Amino acid sequence: MAKKLTPMMEQYQKVKDQYPDAFLFYRLGDFYELFNDDAVKGAQLLELTLTTRNHSAKNPIPMCGVPHRAVDNYVDVLIDKGYKVAICEQMEDPKKAKGMVKRAVTRLITPGTQMDLNGEQARSNNYLAALQQRDNQYNLAYTDLSTGELKTTSLTTNDAVLNELINLQTKEIVVDDSVSDDIKNQLTKRNILQSHQPTILKNSEISYLSQDLDNDGEKAVVALLVSYLLTTQKRSLAHLQKAVAYQPSSFMKIDHYSKTNLELTTNMRSGKRQGTLAWLLDETKTAMGSRLLKRWLDRPLIDANQITARQDKVQELLDHYFERNTLQQELIKVYDLERLAGRVAYGSVNGRDLIQLKTSLQQVPKIRYVLDTLDSPVFADLEKRLDPLDDIAGLIEQAIVDDPPISVTEGGVIKDHYNEQLDQYRDAMNNGKQWIADLQAHERQVTGVNNLKIGYNHVFGYYIEVTKVNLDKIPRDRYERKQTLVNAERFSTPELKEKEALILGAQEKSTALEYDLFVKVREQVKKEIKRLQVLASALSELDVLQSFAVVSEDYHFVRPKMNNGHVLKIKDGRHPVVEKFMGHQEYVPNDVMMDKSTDILLITGPNMSGKSTYMRQLALTAIMAQMGCFVPAKSAELPIFDQIFTRIGAADDLISGESTFMVEMMEANNALLHATDRSLILFDEIGRGTATYDGMALAQAIIEYVHKHVRAKTLFSTHYHELTALEGTLPRLKNVHVGATEKNGELVFLHKVSAGPADKSYGIHVAKLAGMPEPLLKRADNILKSLEGKQVKLPNVEGDQSSKPVQEHELAKQTVSEPQQPTQPVVESNGQLELFATPKRHKMSSTDQQIIKQLKELNLMGMTPMEVMNQLYRWQQKLK
Ligand code: ADP
Ligand code: MG
Repeated sequence: MAKKLTPMMEQYQKVKDQYPDAFLFYRLGDFYELFNDDAVKGAQLLELTLTTRNHSAKNPIPMCGVPHRAVDNYVDVLIDKGYKVAICEQMEDPKKAKGMVKRAVTRLITPGTQMDLNGEQARSNNYLAALQQRDNQYNLAYTDLSTGELKTTSLTTNDAVLNELINLQTKEIVVDDSVSDDIKNQLTKRNILQSHQPTILKNSEISYLSQDLDNDGEKAVVALLVSYLLTTQKRSLAHLQKAVAYQPSSFMKIDHYSKTNLELTTNMRSGKRQGTLAWLLDETKTAMGSRLLKRWLDRPLIDANQITARQDKVQELLDHYFERNTLQQELIKVYDLERLAGRVAYGSVNGRDLIQLKTSLQQVPKIRYVLDTLDSPVFADLEKRLDPLDDIAGLIEQAIVDDPPISVTEGGVIKDHYNEQLDQYRDAMNNGKQWIADLQAHERQVTGVNNLKIGYNHVFGYYIEVTKVNLDKIPRDRYERKQTLVNAERFSTPELKEKEALILGAQEKSTALEYDLFVKVREQVKKEIKRLQVLASALSELDVLQSFAVVSEDYHFVRPKMNNGHVLKIKDGRHPVVEKFMGHQEYVPNDVMMDKSTDILLITGPNMSGKSTYMRQLALTAIMAQMGCFVPAKSAELPIFDQIFTRIGAADDLISGESTFMVEMMEANNALLHATDRSLILFDEIGRGTATYDGMALAQAIIEYVHKHVRAKTLFSTHYHELTALEGTLPRLKNVHVGATEKNGELVFLHKVSAGPADKSYGIHVAKLAGMPEPLLKRADNILKSLEGKQVKLPNVEGDQSSKPVQEHELAKQTVSEPQQPTQPVVESNGQLELFATPKRHKMSSTDQQIIKQLKELNLMGMTPMEVMNQLYRWQQKLK
């Protein structure tokens, strides 16, 4: 049987039923209370004391509360943990209410609609997305409610959708029933909160926001997104900008895996910003500049003209040190205009925010002046967008005091002389005593009564007191009797009444009037939000450009020459982040030379010699160039890449523990499928995740495929020296190697990339560097010699002494030139048997044979590296 609820709990329950998936903060006097399950869970998450309501009852209701003044902090904690919070306010003054106080939810705060972002969050966007599926098309829209940015696009594949969402780092997505369970599951897996919006609103705000869109699917998804915003926020969204449609294909495409791998914005080990390209490039002075830089990094350009336009500006700023410096000084004083505009629309700005706005606007003329002195046509467009909003700056200057309090309802916000009425109230408050004294003097003079005095009491207010002996001297027409005492009478005059009203009401009225005036100023600013946003975008852009100039100077970057062809010439290129971390050591610069007739560089060299660094260096250089930044090299000519694919062999993969050989192959396949002859592919020790020959065979086949069908610029590093023989058969493949020399039996890395293949695998030396025990190293050396000795004896080897590589080169050549023999793959060559035999065993035992058989049948693609390790271990045990 249902419990009988008190009227209040009945009201609570009604509201709660509408927001089942949110914590309901229910206002009760000075507190927001949580009840029932919300209270139990909330107490734990927010570290509050759990109490009960009507604890004497049989089933007391769990309850906890937070003081209303501190509510923001508690809300933030829950939102950060991915929850939603509904704020339920008292809609009338409890003192005046008859019966139950009316309450209603005034706002639903969700991870994707959080407005107050501090600290590190200030420098990143907080995107809320919406997704719909229509006839094999996905329509996606996203917005940052705090800045008003609103974008939409259409995508055709699951992968593209997920990629886009992961790139945006969306915490929440609005979906409807059209979205497939497959996508929904993927979202859940990635901890993206899904919110359902059952009704699409039809109103002028939505039609305005989507009016520039041609695609109906995009219009619909924008309507879905904005409907959700209107439903949850329940207030003006005046700062939302008209939706802009974009094509992911108008930017360089870098899938999520590659972005992570290249550490563009997140350090793989620490998960932080430090050690990333974003961190290196970010010398912006404003939070909005920092956010824009990240957006540029997420979407490098592919249009040569656009790239050149950015480069031209960077060049100007680079060439003018002093102007740039002044510019920085001005930009430092510019606050986060984008988010200020958002809060103006929300009605949540206070006096201090307006002062920040004014200070920011006051920098604009100075910034324009600096650009003027540069006297360069390249800034003309930008300058046009630098509207100083004089009217708004002037209004705030006139209306708002320089150092206002945080509260907007307690007075002290509006300047003197802004409003006559307010001035009078203030006069009354400040000068009340003086007035009274003046009036007293005046009345004494006109009446000639020298002991006339003005006094005050609670019941009668202000009065003029005249002793009985002087009563005949007072002007009866002006003096109105209020009270009679034993030997005196008390009067009032119209003037005194007026002063009295002023003085007594002044305090209260002045704060009320101040609030009204403040709201009017705010409304005035709100009307100019669009202009403010244009200004904000221009300032952010300028900020990023000056940041590029700063890093280009500090790190000696050069302006790359972009071409729409296939020429790639980097002289003395460097990996900017590794270089920065090297400290006193010298980073060894390296060339990358790939002309029209070179598509593939096959990179060999010992472990730790710098292969991976060399490859990443090229990708970062390409990305920086296409962002419009200069690049770490002595000189650079670059083609414009449409996409970058990177895949690190599973064995080296740091991104996640879950990376298996299967994933490695899937990612590699993704590159093979989607890369064009305008793409850049980095395959770093692909094939290492499986057995030696198996992996080598795959690596070779992949290289051949790229060479024949894809023709993307490809860097392929490998520890299979055998593959270097491919240079003989693939005309557009070139060998390069990272050098190392031995000194007194120790390995010295040169980090220098030169033409030709590496001549030796230095594994044992690396092991020595790693400090492995001497006997172990000796033993390994012996085994190696023994293995090499055996291989020399194998048939088909021409009399070259040095020769394990030679023998295996032959192998590689064989598969290229004799593709008609697929039944005799590399894996089954004798070499393998030798590898798995220990030096002492010469005859194969039945155990050996059994193991070989199992090995052949092993389904590697279906195994994780851990499972492979376990299998190897079992075999090893058997062989002992
Ligand atoms: P590999 O991929 O060949 O195993 P890495 O690219 O991971 O080698 O480089 C190993 C280490 O060598 C890097 O962490 C870096 O400290 C150093 N290194 C790489 N390239 C250079 C270079 N060009 N100059 C100086 N040090 C380098
Ligand atoms: Mg490596």
